[in-house]
Amino acid sequence: MDLYSGQFNKLIEELAALPGIGTKSAQRLAFYIIGMSDARVKRLSDTLIAAKANVHYCSECQNLTDTEMCPICRNERRDHSTIMVVETPQDLAAYEKTGKYEGVYHVLHGAISPMLGIGPGDIRLKELMQRLEKEEIREVIIATNSSLEGETTAMYVSRLIKPLGIRVTRIASGVPVGGDLENIDEITLLRALEGRTEL
Ligand code: ZN
Repeated sequence: MDLYSGQFNKLIEELAALPGIGTKSAQRLAFYIIGMSDARVKRLSDTLIAAKANVHYCSECQNLTDTEMCPICRNERRDHSTIMVVETPQDLAAYEKTGKYEGVYHVLHGAISPMLGIGPGDIRLKELMQRLEKEEIREVIIATNSSLEGETTAMYVSRLIKPLGIRVTRIASGVPVGGDLENIDEITLLRALEGRTEL
């Protein structure tokens, strides 16, 4: 069904290939973009290219940043002896939104999943262990999701860290089983953090 020209269809296709955007939304966005001024379209496309070129993982916590170290790691007022381990930058953002956590983070960018063939070497675990070796760490809070993968990862990480003599805790199960951290309200997140248990 070729309602529109090839180029317009291509635009719809590219937009529809993004997560969470169906064909209808893609069409709406495509019409909107075509109606935008040339200057705005250029700003949008320049922003996409610049972000892709400059955004990378923080050398310390692996969060996304466009500087060598992210603002959280650079912040001297934060407690650098407490590291919260999360699966994704979105999980980090969820905890940051509570405004109550004063430590720093480590983003794994995934979780161990034998079913999907994702092993410890496929997530940013080596980088965490390197941090624990070179820094004075008092506590590692494991805040992976309470899915099978999240729990598997939590157990694996705690077994690696405990022999180092560092306190390892797990956020409480106020977080519903199978729940993604980013979709959980801030109060539940805070309760889960406050009620964390020793591993
Ligand atoms: Zn960082």
